Amino acid sequence: MSGDARHAVLAAALEGVCARIESATRAVGRLPHDVTLVVVTKSWPVSDIRALHELGVRDFAENKHQEAESKAADTAELDLHWHFVGQIQSNKATRIASYPDMVHSVDSVRVAQRLDAGASSHDREIDCLVQVSLDEEVSRGGRGGVAWGELETVAAALDGAGALRLAGVMGVAPPGGDAISAYDRLSQASRIVRAISASATIVSAGMSGDFEDAIRAGATHVRVGSAILGQRPALR
Ligand SMILES: *Cc1c(COP(=O)(O)O)cnc(C)c1O
Repeated sequence: MSGDARHAVLAAALEGVCARIESATRAVGRLPHDVTLVVVTKSWPVSDIRALHELGVRDFAENKHQEAESKAADTAELDLHWHFVGQIQSNKATRIASYPDMVHSVDSVRVAQRLDAGASSHDREIDCLVQVSLDEEVSRGGRGGVAWGELETVAAALDGAGALRLAGVMGVAPPGGDAISAYDRLSQASRIVRAISASATIVSAGMSGDFEDAIRAGATHVRVGSAILGQRPALR
């Protein structure tokens, strides 16, 4: 596809997603600009990021350290906000702290401590969200975020970290599960975290298939990939 043709495809898809956000917000009496669209560009080239920037997108997300780091470096001259949304191995957390404006996927005290050390060594401040497990079996944390029992401990670690700001919560609805009840649990988690820090108002929830449900439940940030960029190319 030529650059112009890709630009036109992205423009149409972006317009469609913005229209969905607008009608979902209006349906619950919220304003469209209360919801930030974060475009997830994992596996897509930097040329797509540049095209979306021309179309007005400023918030971009990646889920793998190396790809995120290199795309942030390749677009350093643009006024972008980078979001890191992938699972964080604690041995990479210090390095991850060098480029994102927001990390959505903090799921342990250890990761919080390493991000804090990295951010302070780069003289940066990073907004951080606690990723909350929305699986039905919430007894176990790990992959999909913290279990309920650890939520306040991890939130307090972020709140107390010198180079991090506790900014809210993030969740991924379980595949094939009930997104509405999952996002209701996330909004309960948001209340718990706001009791620790009143300014931690961000709720990052919703992907291409279910962001209307997330907006209905109070999402402030939706993370959308395939509805804008298309089905991801096979993993390299
Ligand atoms: C890939 C990804 C998304 C976007 O998913 P789509 O279904 O392509 O919209 C959102 N959040 C996270 C954490 C992701 O890894």
